[in-house]
Formats: sequence, structure tokens, C-alpha cells
Amino acid sequence: MNILVLGAGQLARMMSLAGAPLDINIKAYDVGSKHVVHPLTLAVYEQDLVAAIAECDAITAEFEHIPDDVLALCCQSGKFYPGKDAIKAGGDRSIEKALLDQANVPCAPYLLITEREHLDRAIIDLGLPLVIKTCQAGYDGKGQWRIKADSNVDQIWSEMAEFIAAGSIDFPHTIIAEKMIPFKREVSVIGARDKQGNTAVYPVTENEHTNGVLTLSVATDIDYQIQSQALAAFNKLSAAMDYVGVLAIEFFDVDGQLMVNEIAPRVHNSGHWTQQGTLCSQFENHLRAVAGLPLGDTAMIGPSAMINVLGEPSIPADVLSVAGVTSHWYGKAVRAGRKMGHINVVASSNVELGKKLAVLANYLPEDAYPGVAARAVELS
Ligand code: ATP
Ligand code: MG
Ligand code: MG
Repeated sequence: MNILVLGAGQLARMMSLAGAPLDINIKAYDVGSKHVVHPLTLAVYEQDLVAAIAECDAITAEFEHIPDDVLALCCQSGKFYPGKDAIKAGGDRSIEKALLDQANVPCAPYLLITEREHLDRAIIDLGLPLVIKTCQAGYDGKGQWRIKADSNVDQIWSEMAEFIAAGSIDFPHTIIAEKMIPFKREVSVIGARDKQGNTAVYPVTENEHTNGVLTLSVATDIDYQIQSQALAAFNKLSAAMDYVGVLAIEFFDVDGQLMVNEIAPRVHNSGHWTQQGTLCSQFENHLRAVAGLPLGDTAMIGPSAMINVLGEPSIPADVLSVAGVTSHWYGKAVRAGRKMGHINVVASSNVELGKKLAVLANYLPEDAYPGVAARAVELS
């Protein structure tokens, strides 16, 4: 079976690695260069997008910011999963919020903004502090501003206008104002839904962000109160979109009540721990769903963590001396803050996970790998 992935980054790469044992071959379409490439070597195929679409059995995506013409071609083929509506909901916060409201899933209170006066209205109606986000093209915390009591709103407004002018973002509904949620922690749930509507959902993961970028995910013993809320949101949202594939949902945990932050219609960084931490990884389950195969078991092998490697030239080799640790390198050119790879660690208990993280913290400097040492103390 041949699957075409829109996007040629690390997610396509890891789908390719998961596909091989299933006899699924992946080709990736690099939306920037418009080349069909090998997902591991990035070698360019002598084939255009139309030919790659004609040749493959199914098409999917590793990101949601896909140009309309590419999306249209893929949808016309009838082979594209999870489909246009899901991609649009993931790529535009105004569509995403409408979906959440329609599916009756709680999210941060918001107002859409298309002109300067709307921002003043939002400050009054939602109250400060506020988080302002561009509806389209945001990722890793980019395209976001915070408005606090002492902020210069005019200055923020002109920064936003500059950001929008520099990108190719549609008007109207360009900006969303969200109430700043005083969350206790951030969690996410990853699940797969197949073409018959069967679902397989992973244990909830707790996520730490540093400057808007995910730095650490930890999946410990299941908290059933939290898991059942996450599962309910997953079931409602995936059913509302008649979703096929892996869907990720990020939440704020506000005193034990989950509130959706955003969704991602794809495999997700906070699900990378499932590669070693569960019986069937998010990458394999996504391919299974899209290929029309039965879904795999999402049961946890043991409490797990995933540490992102950001902007580093390599993964410190010493981490491999710790039992239960694996490294995943993406083979990309090094740039400051860029996701270069990740480290997975699996343990037999929460306490053992804490001990392993404590050893790892010796090899991973706190400034480059924030949160590892603190989490080790918390768990052991
Ligand atoms: P991603 O790379 O996850 O797609 P993104 O650019 O889409 O990131 P968000 O997930 O919307 O950004 O926001 C990034 C982080 O900013 C969140 O994980 C959270 O820590 C913080 N944040 C976003 N919205 C709010 C909010 N309404 N209240 C409090 N914190 C927020
Ligand atoms: Mg996002
Ligand atoms: Mg996010």
C-alpha cells in the first residue's frame, strides 16, 4: 500500500518508519518546494503532485496549514483523510471554535476580531489578561500576543498588523481574543478513529511548554476523572467531523475540569511517547485508520516521558545508557529552537520514571531541557 503525506517533516518521517512493518510505503509532498520526496532521505522523486495522487492508495497530512489548491486536488481524489473540514478546523481558530461550540465542548471564552475597536470590546467583555492569536498560520506559540493591565494596546495592534501583512493570512476573522485561562497544568489526548467510526484513545499526557513550545510530555498512571473528560471531548469532536485518522486535543486543566485549548488534525508532538510507551504508536494507528486497517491497542506499557531536543546539534549519547530510553533524530538542519529530535523514556511505575528522569537530568542541561529535573523530583 502507498500513502502520500502532505508535508515532509519529522511527522511524515515517523509515519514512514511506522509504515514499513505494515508494508505501507510513504511518499511525502513538500508544500514549500512542491517536490514529492522520500520521507527519510528527502530525495526528490521525478513525479509531480498530480501523479503522486493518482498513484497512491490514500493521502493524509502532517500539518494543517495546507494551500487551498493542494487541498482541493487531494479532496477531489476521494482518498484524503481526515478530510477538508478537519484540516480547516485545525488551521483556522475561528472554524475550530465554531466546531467546539457546535459539539458542545468547553473551550476558553473568546471573541473574533477584525478591527481595532473589537479589541477594546474584548478587553471589556472578556476582561484582562487576554491572549490574542492569529486565526491562521499559528504554531509553536507564533502569532500570539498577551495583553495585560499595563500593556500598550496600540503597540500590540501594530505588531499584529505587521505579522499579518508579512504572512499570507486571509481576512476577515484574522484574530481571536481569548480569556487567559489560569490553568493548573496542560494536558492532551490523542486518539484514532477508523472509517467505521471505531475509536482507540491513548492515556492523557501532561505537557510542559517553554516560550510557547512543547518541551516535555509525561504520561503517568491514568487519572480516570481526567481521562473520562478527555475521552468525551474526543468522541464528540471526532464524531462531529466524521474523522478518520489520529486527532490530538490540547486542554487546560482548571481545577480538574478540562477546557479545550486547540485541536490538531494529525499525529502530535505530545503523542511521541506512544512510540515506546504503548503497544501501538500514534503513527501506526494513524496509518492503520487511513489505510482502512483495524486500529491497534493504545494500552500503556508503562509510565513514559518525552523530552524535546530543541536547536541542539545532537542528542547527548549518555542518555542511551539509561534503561528504557530511546532517541529519535529527525535529520534536519540545526536552527535555534528548532525541533531536532526527541528522547523517549519508559518505566514500570511513576516512581521509577522519576528516578530515570533524575539520571537523565544529569546529561541534559536545564537551560536546553527545562523541566526534567523538576519532574523527576515530583515523581520520585
Ligand atoms: P502548537 O505548536 O501547540 O500548535 P500554537 O501556536 O497553536 O501551538 P497554542 O497551543 O494556542 O499555540 O498556545 C501555545 C501555548 O500558549 C499553550 O500551550 C498555553 O501554554 C498558552 N496559551 C494559549 N492560549 C492560552 C489561554 N487562552 N490561556 C492561557 N494560556 C494560553
Ligand atoms: Mg496549534
Ligand atoms: Mg498548542
